[in-house]
Amino acid sequence: MAVLSRLLRASALTASCSLYAATVRRRGLSLVASEGDLRLPSSAHLSPLGTRKNLTGRNVQWAFLGCPGVGKGTYASRLSQLLGVPHIATGDLVREELSSSGPLADQLRGIVNQGKLVSDEIIVDLLSKRVEKGEAKGESGFILDGFPRTLRQAEILERVTDVDLVINLKLREDVLLEKCLGRRICSQCGGNFNIACIDIKGEDGKPGIYMAPLLPPEGCASKLVTRSDDTEEVVKERLRIYNEMTQPVEDFYRKRGKLLEFELPGGIPESWPKLLHALHLDGLNREQSLAA
Ligand SMILES: [Zn+2]
Repeated sequence: MAVLSRLLRASALTASCSLYAATVRRRGLSLVASEGDLRLPSSAHLSPLGTRKNLTGRNVQWAFLGCPGVGKGTYASRLSQLLGVPHIATGDLVREELSSSGPLADQLRGIVNQGKLVSDEIIVDLLSKRVEKGEAKGESGFILDGFPRTLRQAEILERVTDVDLVINLKLREDVLLEKCLGRRICSQCGGNFNIACIDIKGEDGKPGIYMAPLLPPEGCASKLVTRSDDTEEVVKERLRIYNEMTQPVEDFYRKRGKLLEFELPGGIPESWPKLLHALHLDGLNREQSLAA
């Protein structure tokens, strides 16, 4: 049973103490029994390659949390380039699978066409396949974007690998709303822009916040359209659902001392250096700028 052996291998290698390993193995067995053909990411036990390693000698295994529109894809992608680890976005995995053929793609198309949520099992399956493919190419470590989204996903992930750090990106809700409502797409080339210019002065000891708009080039300016679901009502509902689902995930990592709360102080130029500082990576950024 390939699934089981992979799971056992993952569990055994994750744990250094044999008693713990046995517990993990037991948990793994019950997981397989109760949840069917679950394939889990066997990414933890990474070869000591790569640029940035933690105390156990492997690359970072980080995840990003943050509500829709906060820009976590951008920060996750930048960090993955800086650290030389793959940026794995579950949204991309779903899109890639949808564009392929096979039984899983068919199943996924059915779910998406009915407007249903993709189950935790399918997301874990896609993630697992992606991590294994990467490992075969010599990748190690990861920055996850869009996973874990639910408490259940966090629990599944915890059984097979150690996430070192979860970065929770936050942005004031009024700013977030304004940013989401400022999104525009060019109907001709599909380019994404944002016409919202956020410039809130600091008051009562609270810092101000500035986020420049992302304006289109001249050729696109007259062809901008708004996504039909970028209305105030829909954006607020999206945020409400996100918060409800993610609160337990935040608590899960907070309890384990793995949650880094990061309040975005503005757009990328303002936020990026501060984020690196919070992650103790400012030196690395300088090295890279000098090398560039
Ligand atoms: Zn255009």
